[in-house]
Amino acid sequence: MSVNLLDLDAQGLTRFVAGLGEKPFRARQLLRWVHRAGETEFARMTDIARSLREKLAERALIAPPRVLRDGVSADGTRKWLLDVGRGNAIETVFIPEAARGTLCISTQAGCALACRFCSTGRQGFNRNLAVAEIIGQLWIANRALGSAPARGRADEDESDARPERAVSNVVLMGMGEPLLNLDHVVPALRLMLDDNAYGLSRRRVTVSTSGIVPMIDALGEECPVALAVSLHAPNDELRNRLMPINRKYPLRELMAACARYLKRAPRDFITFEYVMLEGVNDGEAHARELIELARAVPCKINLIPFNPFAGSGFTRSPHETIRRFNAQLNAAGIVTTTRRTRGEDIEAACGQLAGRVRERAPRTFGLARAA
Ligand code: SAH
Ligand code: SF4
Repeated sequence: MSVNLLDLDAQGLTRFVAGLGEKPFRARQLLRWVHRAGETEFARMTDIARSLREKLAERALIAPPRVLRDGVSADGTRKWLLDVGRGNAIETVFIPEAARGTLCISTQAGCALACRFCSTGRQGFNRNLAVAEIIGQLWIANRALGSAPARGRADEDESDARPERAVSNVVLMGMGEPLLNLDHVVPALRLMLDDNAYGLSRRRVTVSTSGIVPMIDALGEECPVALAVSLHAPNDELRNRLMPINRKYPLRELMAACARYLKRAPRDFITFEYVMLEGVNDGEAHARELIELARAVPCKINLIPFNPFAGSGFTRSPHETIRRFNAQLNAAGIVTTTRRTRGEDIEAACGQLAGRVRERAPRTFGLARAA
């Protein structure tokens, strides 16, 4: 059976070429062709000897996930729906901003953790994504966006076009819990950081987790990158209700894991994500509790206005409530920002990703088909 080269990081590729009787520098060449150039045909890899190209064509292939749909939101956010087999699809979202372009990547088809405010969690778990399916999302985005300016609208001023790649930051905040697929997430992270592949800085690659304590330690050991933790509640009682995983790894243990992680992390703070749910976790007393909790670990807090989906049973906190909550935290010296909601018109906002093809087929919403 052919090996999909998108499944292999530098180490895996070195082993693979060694198996063909080739030297390690061939692995570096292949990494550059596959990831930097986005090449899929061995025949076009001109600096590789013809005999090796032929051998590669027999034993290997470069197979990214198939793009089912490609949509651009009015605000420039772009979303790809990718086929991962058996009627399952996952989503990848690109968010262009003036100073950076962020790609939000999925790591599982569905998610087993059933957080009550999350659309992915509501659909249950299907399977872990392969390395090729995780890194394939960045591969596809890079090919589609190239070194174009990080935006999706043609009517904007082109003068601030940046020469580098459109994707400058990656966040593992799409569908799934990255730390429950660490065996595949780590090689994908290594490829993101590899200078022969995507060359992203560790500080610009962020793993977001609901708080799988032992796996936070494992990530710190295997591939420390920036860490975001989905907190969403300032006490165990409320967090147990919103995020069932809290019953297994309660706040005290989670905070201790965050403190341990910081010893290895490329940044000196953890980002705590906090979804604003009206009348559930957005009161003044919640903010006070959150301030106490946040003092335990050097952190920044990112408030996320809840993104509604059908049948969620929650509503987004009003703008004024979010503003006050944010101000209360800032006044206590906790650096807090509120996330701008992007891509809502194509259901690309946080927690709205639910890539089941069957469900999505009849919907069209202003999705512009990209060439
Ligand atoms: N499983 C990981 C990463 C994917 S979710 C995690 O939970 O951290 C990425 C972020 O979106 C998390 O902070 C998650 O809690 C948040 N989120 C989920 N559903 C949401 C919704 N409906 N509105 C806003 N944010 C949501
Ligand atoms: Fe899974 Fe994260 Fe959604 Fe919770 S918020 S169900 S952990 S994807």
